[in-house]
Amino acid sequence: MQRELTLQVSPEIAANSEALHIATAQHSGIPLSEIKHIEILRRSIDSRQRNIKINLKVLVFVNEDFEDIPISLPSYPEVSQQESILIVGAGPAGLFAALRCIELGKKPIVLERGKDVKARRRDLKALNLQHIVNEDSNYCFGEGGAGTYSDGKLYTRSKKRGDVMRILKLLVGFGATKEILIDAHPHIGTNKLPKIIEDIRNQIIASGGEIHFNTRVTDILVKSNEIHGIQTATGDLLHCRKLILATGHSARDIFELLYTKGIYIEAKPFALGVRAEHPQSLIDKIQYKCDDRGDYLPPSAYSIVKQVHGRGMYSFCMCPGGIIAPCATSPQEVVTNGWSPSKRDQSTANSGIVVELRPEDFKAFGDSPLAGMYFQKEIEQRAWLKAGKTQAVPAQRMVDFTQKKVSSTLPTTSYKPGVSSVELGEVFPTFITKILRDGFVAFGNTMRGYFTNEAILHAPESRTSSPVRIPRDSFTLEHVQIKGLYPCGEGAGYAGGIISAAIDGEKCAERCVESMGTFSSI
Ligand code: FAD
Repeated sequence: MQRELTLQVSPEIAANSEALHIATAQHSGIPLSEIKHIEILRRSIDSRQRNIKINLKVLVFVNEDFEDIPISLPSYPEVSQQESILIVGAGPAGLFAALRCIELGKKPIVLERGKDVKARRRDLKALNLQHIVNEDSNYCFGEGGAGTYSDGKLYTRSKKRGDVMRILKLLVGFGATKEILIDAHPHIGTNKLPKIIEDIRNQIIASGGEIHFNTRVTDILVKSNEIHGIQTATGDLLHCRKLILATGHSARDIFELLYTKGIYIEAKPFALGVRAEHPQSLIDKIQYKCDDRGDYLPPSAYSIVKQVHGRGMYSFCMCPGGIIAPCATSPQEVVTNGWSPSKRDQSTANSGIVVELRPEDFKAFGDSPLAGMYFQKEIEQRAWLKAGKTQAVPAQRMVDFTQKKVSSTLPTTSYKPGVSSVELGEVFPTFITKILRDGFVAFGNTMRGYFTNEAILHAPESRTSSPVRIPRDSFTLEHVQIKGLYPCGEGAGYAGGIISAAIDGEKCAERCVESMGTFSSI
């Protein structure tokens, strides 16, 4: 017999199988000797009280043995001779679109401007140590997309639990730990993601699909409002009837290309601000209400949102035990974001703290749909200028920022290319600075200890989501004007993270295959 139970235990008990058996027996009245196995189905931390608890949903095997059935991948057929679908971009949207195409019997041909995950590492090293930005291979561009060298947080605001679980199970099938299926806030970590991405690539190739690295698409060929093919930077032409465009939020050249070709795009609100870094021990102290989190609790995350002067100001992509990364995609700009290893064992906690922006904020940049992108770019370029025209980042202590005081000293931060002491009010338009200044004080009222000069702000955090939407029909997912074009993932404005991008990639592949007339739902 199996019994599903919910229970609350201490972190120590949750981490110890024997203790958990005893606690479950006491809680449920099931004799300890009859409990053969406890399978954890869901796990979350309740840190609202000083006495922190772990909430568990468990399946108890009573007088019944447990059989551990490994999560297997779908059976991917051989598709090398099948009709092809062109996919631009090998981020989560593009890769999961490719896998789904194979499942549905079509051959994906993936074109990626960047390098494979291993080769990409060299360019990240050059970016961190020598300030060299390769415009095709960086933290945003290359195999696996923007999420490859990230924290690999896998939570999403999507309410479609089935869709989310499907992607999580595929990730487990490709080598992620099963823990991601049970944790309320699962993550993978920078050290583990590249191998998973590599295994996805190997599956695509083994099934007869193609992936071409170092292949930047520079033109999209359209005839009578129908997709006809693409051109690459080396001048190669590739004809296609179906094109999934999954180029991410940083492919400014693609947005410009679509605009100049008269392919309909829209301005989209996004958010922008700074990346704040605190000692992890301070965040633990605030969140767990204790001096030391001990051996059984993970480094604490936080999530905070406030309305400040009528706008949302909120934490974004918080990385406990993480590192701030240089995420520029062109020279002469500075951009920050964050990542963590799977153990989240670095001594600092970082998070984007951003202010919501609206299309009317970009008026000074004209009324084209690219105005928000130019606004974003100008702030990134100003940051580059102010910090000394390298990948060093303008930085300021938190309290100093609110008091308009250039910090006289800056401690070493996790941002490897270095920091330069700058009054951050000089980087942002006045309205953003004012919201951030007042917002940090307000954050300190909610999270006692957060507002401190121990915290360092790095500017800007500007690639939070796409500044442009490529509109599509809500059912067919085809572009509203161009037949055969499927705008997909974060760059098109339909995703905001690894999981939602992967879900969108699958959906686009499904609609695309369906439109080819041979779709059978699997
Ligand atoms: P992308 O991942 O941006 O992929 C687009 C791909 O298209 C890129 O590989 C790019 O090289 C390629 N491309 C662009 N232009 C062209 C062209 N012209 N020709 C050919 N190829 C092209 N999200 C989370 O959910 N959790 C996290 O913990 C997290 N941490 C992050 C940390 C960092 C440092 C960064 C940068 C992002 C992070 N994100 C995180 C965001 C997440 O990575 C993105 O939401 C997600 O990758 C979007 O997927 P996508 O496939 O739509 O686009």
